[in-house]
Amino acid sequence: MSDARRSAPDDAFFWDGAAAGRLLIQRCADCGTLRHPPAPMCGSCGSLAWDTAEASGRGRVVSWMYSVHPNRPDDEPRIVILVQLDEGTRLVSNLIDPPRGGPYDDLPVTVEFCDDRGSLTPYFRVTS
Ligand SMILES: [Zn+2]
Repeated sequence: MSDARRSAPDDAFFWDGAAAGRLLIQRCADCGTLRHPPAPMCGSCGSLAWDTAEASGRGRVVSWMYSVHPNRPDDEPRIVILVQLDEGTRLVSNLIDPPRGGPYDDLPVTVEFCDDRGSLTPYFRVTS
């Protein structure tokens, strides 16, 4: 993947997982604490050892904003959401096909991997 979003070795697993249609969360190999965004050290126990856990892809919207600054001139406005995953970590993403009236607190959402300029990216859709 020649993706500019892959900015550090710490998050390469995240984008490799997304490319395979899997939502991965970094997990401390010593105490099991999940963390996102990825970081080299566990904030709970200080361990540098980590592996990954696959998230269910389900969560709830805890905050959102309408982005009126497109990445490219032909981009549509996006709804940027903060999702609280069922596993407990939070993830910033985009909401696709928002409900009439827009997003709201505690809106249940499910991950959907969408092609974003050639890379599969985890976006979220309202859980049906
Ligand atoms: Zn730990």
